[in-house]
Amino acid sequence: MTILDELGIPADRVLTDPDVTASLSHDDAEWAPVGRPLAVVRALTAEEVQSVVAACYRHSVPVVARGAGTGLSGGANAVDGGIVLALDRMDRVLEIDPLERLAVVQPGVVNDDLRAAVAKEGLWYPPDPASSPWSTIGGNVATNAGGLCCVKYGVTRDYVLGLQMVTGTGELVRLGRRTAKGVAGYDLAGLVVGSEGTLGIVTEVTVKLRPLPPPAITVAGYFASIVDAGEAVAASAAAGLTPAALELVDRHCLAAVDAWKNMGLSVEAEVVLLARLDEPGAAGELAAERMVACFEGAGATYAVRSTDEAESEALFAARRLAYPALERLGPVLTEDVCVPKGRVPEMLGRIEKAATDHRITIANIAHAGDGNLHPLLVVDPGDEAAKARAQLAFDDIVAAALELGGTVTGEHGVGLLKKPGLVAELSPVVLDMHRSVKQALDPRGILNPGKVF
Ligand SMILES: Cc1cc2nc3c(=O)[nH]c(=O)nc-3n(C[C@H](O)[C@H](O)[C@H](O)COP(=O)(O)OP(=O)(O)OC[C@H]3O[C@@H](n4cnc5c(N)ncnc54)[C@H](O)[C@@H]3O)c2cc1C
Repeated sequence: MTILDELGIPADRVLTDPDVTASLSHDDAEWAPVGRPLAVVRALTAEEVQSVVAACYRHSVPVVARGAGTGLSGGANAVDGGIVLALDRMDRVLEIDPLERLAVVQPGVVNDDLRAAVAKEGLWYPPDPASSPWSTIGGNVATNAGGLCCVKYGVTRDYVLGLQMVTGTGELVRLGRRTAKGVAGYDLAGLVVGSEGTLGIVTEVTVKLRPLPPPAITVAGYFASIVDAGEAVAASAAAGLTPAALELVDRHCLAAVDAWKNMGLSVEAEVVLLARLDEPGAAGELAAERMVACFEGAGATYAVRSTDEAESEALFAARRLAYPALERLGPVLTEDVCVPKGRVPEMLGRIEKAATDHRITIANIAHAGDGNLHPLLVVDPGDEAAKARAQLAFDDIVAAALELGGTVTGEHGVGLLKKPGLVAELSPVVLDMHRSVKQALDPRGILNPGKVF
């Protein structure tokens, strides 16, 4: 008997043809190494997940959870000889409770589908990664995904009340709670959020909801230099403004989106900052005025409260499409550093310097209001020398972020790409704590081995 006979999954959901498994064996981090799995298994229930993990435990075979594969760190990449456990067919919203303002979902529910389902009840699930049309709640939980409105409303961890998961020994457990408060025991649900499939396979999530937010005002600022745009971000934070989104998108990205989608975007400015202010009534008007003043004070060539809803939606849509648009041009190495808001101008300057020093095109998008920057290092297909230079620029950017008091990953996770960065960021004692936690929940080290640390 091989492990494939013991999985407990019907043969039509155990995929072994390498031509089929190849496309399900990696995420969207183009530069991370990918292994060859024994099989990709599509689970439909928690019990099936449990059965697969139990078989992997008995045989000490690696198991890599997969949501939609939109990850940008290599976290969902297959391990040689392991099982890829695809959760995308576990895609049902099980419960929406307007009174308690919560929803219970399977891990394969797509973020936008959850948002649409709860909106019918006048409710809102805030975490909105730019991948929300594709990425799953299970993947969002495993990476503690952020997004555009996290600057005001928080990240995935702030919305996970509880979850069900299968441990590395094949145990099905419930962590967390359904109540508004609760401090019974350690916050193990919080620990699993952001654990990148290394501590358990999430089979159900209970999320907190909010009422739908009021309509927002958009302020757009156009800048001749990216560092000026960074100054505007720092100035708005110093002014005490709390935008519901504060995004940066540069000329390279706007041009790539326009070339792809023909949206008629202006690419005259070097950088555009987009702020969304959603305080109701006069407070929103005042916040918008103050945001315009911050942009102008930092040297914006043009700053305006948008009166054209369609135009501001197009700019936000372009921001969301920037990454796939750039990917069409050639291999993209995505950065995800996060620095204190006051250090954003300096960090943007360091990114420009890395581009110059290593003769690399770096496009920039950023959840700027969080200090979470996504320099995108783009090289021509097949240009190996440029790829090597891009790697050096990547390392410089990581080092600069740490020097400025930041972190190597704001939201994409460590996966494979940020493993050296994690070692640079955490002390040996803290890394040992990680190993001890992993050992407790996954004693045979079968859950996503080789990822994170
Ligand atoms: C265009 C684009 C825009 C993006 N924008 C953002 C953004 O704004 N903010 C942001 O945070 N990220 C963003 N990302 C990155 C990515 O979408 C997120 O990391 C997302 O949370 C991954 O979800 P997924 O379902 O695709 O997970 P996958 O890529 O399939 O997996 C991600 C990780 O989670 C693990 N995993 C998946 N499901 C489970 C499960 N059920 N149990 C345990 N572990 C599991 C995997 O093993 C892997 O380690 C973007 C990506 C793209 C392509």
